[in-house]
Amino acid sequence: MLATPFRLMLDFALPERCPSCGAMAPAGASAGGAFCRECWDSLVFLGSPCCASCDLPLPYATEHEQNCAECLSNPPRHNGIKAAVAYGDIARHVALRLKYAGRIGLARMIAAQLMRHVRDLPQDALLVPVPLHWTRLWGRSFNQSVLIAREIAAQSNHTLCPDLLRRTRRTLPLGGLSGKERRNMVAGAFEVHAKLASQLKDRHILLVDDVYTSGATTDACIRVLKKGGASAVTILCWTRVLPSGLQSANAT
Ligand SMILES: [Zn+2]
Ligand SMILES: [Zn+2]
Repeated sequence: MLATPFRLMLDFALPERCPSCGAMAPAGASAGGAFCRECWDSLVFLGSPCCASCDLPLPYATEHEQNCAECLSNPPRHNGIKAAVAYGDIARHVALRLKYAGRIGLARMIAAQLMRHVRDLPQDALLVPVPLHWTRLWGRSFNQSVLIAREIAAQSNHTLCPDLLRRTRRTLPLGGLSGKERRNMVAGAFEVHAKLASQLKDRHILLVDDVYTSGATTDACIRVLKKGGASAVTILCWTRVLPSGLQSANAT
């Protein structure tokens, strides 16, 4: 395992490669920096028009704030999901490369893509990454959400509080489980670090994760953050799974 300063040096020394497919990318080949043209064109960037509650893409803009059907019938616990791109092959490759290789350059790119959302959020909001259980940290040595949060803090000047949330028990991967099974798996798996609890009171929290899938994990985090006094919790993530049909409609 490489020590962080050495890995950082390597990160800068290696020629720029597309963060998704690994193809050599000429500098400045796209607005994304090192993305090759093909991968860049396949990404679906998320923004307006969108649901005022959950930021789900909406087909058209109106003068007034509008909510999606799901948020109207079932108001979410969070205060917005700000994702850089819709989930798809390219976004998934980037998330996997960050998760298993921990490339600082990827976290920096993700943070840069999130800046257009972060700029509109309160400057006194606190950046809090979704924690990993310590047994997973042991095997991997880094938490991808912490890497992203650290880079957002560097680019936006928001305060980072990486240890505010703690995972109290190890949970199995949520893939393949139903919504209810996912919620049960992560229920009670998080707590606020007792020594840092005072920082939460009336604070807007920016909860950072790499991939937003069903929302079960972030929802379990938000439950304890709001119980601890947080005034609002906005989710910041690299990529977000959209309901089927929405993504392709948005990409055309
Ligand atoms: Zn590529
Ligand atoms: Zn919504």
